[in-house]
Amino acid sequence: MAAAAGLFAATAVAPMAARAAPEGFKTRLTPDEALRALREGNERFAADTPFRPEIGTARRAATARGQGPFAAIVACADSRVAPELVFSRGIGELFVVRTAGNVADAVALGSIEYSVAVLGSPLLVVMGHGSCGAVAAAVEMAEKNATFPGSIGEVARPIVPAVHAVRGRSGDKLGNAIRENAMMVAQGMIARSPVLQDAVAKNKLRVIAAHYGLADGRVEFLGG
Ligand SMILES: [Zn+2]
Repeated sequence: MAAAAGLFAATAVAPMAARAAPEGFKTRLTPDEALRALREGNERFAADTPFRPEIGTARRAATARGQGPFAAIVACADSRVAPELVFSRGIGELFVVRTAGNVADAVALGSIEYSVAVLGSPLLVVMGHGSCGAVAAAVEMAEKNATFPGSIGEVARPIVPAVHAVRGRSGDKLGNAIRENAMMVAQGMIARSPVLQDAVAKNKLRVIAAHYGLADGRVEFLGG
């Protein structure tokens, strides 16, 4: 109840939201400003004082004419990791692709390229999270040759290289693999995409991996 009340508290207003997607046109935020906006939103969320998300009639009408999301995000499909909530953002601000394990297949990559090249998003975040079931499945697959019903194995398979990469590293095995996977997905997207490479080269795009903590609600940006 307290969280729901905070979400719609009239005192919490997103200062950068209006600049982020004015009237449905491309954002004017730089990559670093976009990252700062996400940090601010997450700090508010984690403190249970989120910005009032712009989701009302006026915002819907404005964004119906076009969109200019200031960040593209690849996040896990996990029900506890909704980017608009954890970054305290409203309609038209984030372009989000969600797959189990935040893996990026060709369709996910193409979706992100659209956000960057067509909509002008200056920031790409690949966000893993604590206790990710998809990464845990990849650990099982890598270490015990586990198999899974249906197409679940197709989700876990691309994460296996991250599990191998952290083998022998100190600390929590699953936690290390989750972070490594987010970084490998981010690097892999750039490596596979001349569109993203071009935007990075022109300083129009920053790409960063991140880790979301389920209990504390905090997003840790990795290497940024
Ligand atoms: Zn997950």
